[in-house]
Amino acid sequence: MSSELPDLNRIAVLGATGSIGTSCLDVIAAHRGRLQATALTAHRGWERLAQQCQQHQPRFAVISDSSMRDQMGGNVFPRGTEVLFGPEGIEQVSGHPEIDTVVCGIVGAAGLRGAWAAIESGKRVGIANKETLVVAGPLVMELAAKTGSVLIPVDSEHSAVFQALQGGRRCDLKRIVLTASGGPFRGWSKERLEREVTIERALAHPTWQMGPKITVDSASMMNKALEVIEARWLFNLVVDEIGVMIHPQSIVHSFVEFVDGSVLAQLSPPDMKLPIQYALTYPERWAGTIRRLDWSQSHQLDFFPPDLDAFPALRLGFEVAKRGGTCGSVLNAANEVAVERFLDGSLKFTEIPQACGDILNGHNFDAQPTLAELLRLDEWARKEMQQWKSSQSI
Ligand code: MG
Repeated sequence: MSSELPDLNRIAVLGATGSIGTSCLDVIAAHRGRLQATALTAHRGWERLAQQCQQHQPRFAVISDSSMRDQMGGNVFPRGTEVLFGPEGIEQVSGHPEIDTVVCGIVGAAGLRGAWAAIESGKRVGIANKETLVVAGPLVMELAAKTGSVLIPVDSEHSAVFQALQGGRRCDLKRIVLTASGGPFRGWSKERLEREVTIERALAHPTWQMGPKITVDSASMMNKALEVIEARWLFNLVVDEIGVMIHPQSIVHSFVEFVDGSVLAQLSPPDMKLPIQYALTYPERWAGTIRRLDWSQSHQLDFFPPDLDAFPALRLGFEVAKRGGTCGSVLNAANEVAVERFLDGSLKFTEIPQACGDILNGHNFDAQPTLAELLRLDEWARKEMQQWKSSQSI
């Protein structure tokens, strides 16, 4: 039922004011009459959300931080838009019968609740929030199988794998190789990373325009670590079937290798609008306004194996993907706070993977946790990371 593309795809954009959300609204605006923004949500940014509502006239707007209710000016939302407050509002729109597709663009573990509600209601779900699968991969996939919810990855690498898999049978898959730009510190040694990384440099990504959290994650390669874990659950792979290659141009978004040795890749300029649109139109492809490769120019595509000693975060990703259970929840939560601490100057860049590794090793592992247990460990790991000091690991 939900795998069929409706004539008018009514979309809930969770995290509408963020980087994924605004790109998603651009895609929707380019396909009026076939795509419709029916619900938009934001955490606190009600002014920006109100502007978006003026443009898109959705049926619902949700502000998940309910304390914003008192700060909001009157009559900023269009008359036809019902405004809801609190995380319950996100759950309400995600499962609403007037919604066909939910795009989960909320950053971090906070995005899990909305994604869960959407999957529970059997919606088509565009997963841009990798934490949903990192934190609760087995439970999420089990739920989707039960409700018939179709999960379409929006993360560019996973979208590439998903697209390349359309060219072969899943049972003939040998491995996938996720590409990584390498971020601003590509080629740097461990020693140089310890000495020379600044917050400004970590926030200057060479090829992708993204929010600060994911930009720092790209610089540390924790983003790729989370993507390895995400891929492990989304495509039901074992760790040995997942590879990573550094590809500075960010044109090849990932590879799929089949048993006969044939490799399929998906290529396009680095622009999130393409994977977002594909998630909204799958299995169709629509012409649009998205930037294309220029075949009148020369192109050079480079691929290098990653340096796991300089970027130990990636090693953590493979380890967590292998162990599963509670590890994803702990790594993700620890890393979220570590990035905050790096951005406020209380943690060095190279301490991010070090601290995450310490907390991961110190947690009470469970191979088959419940959702409640995962959320409890998420909280625990955050507290541990708040208190973590480098002396602990000496
Ligand atoms: Mg990605």
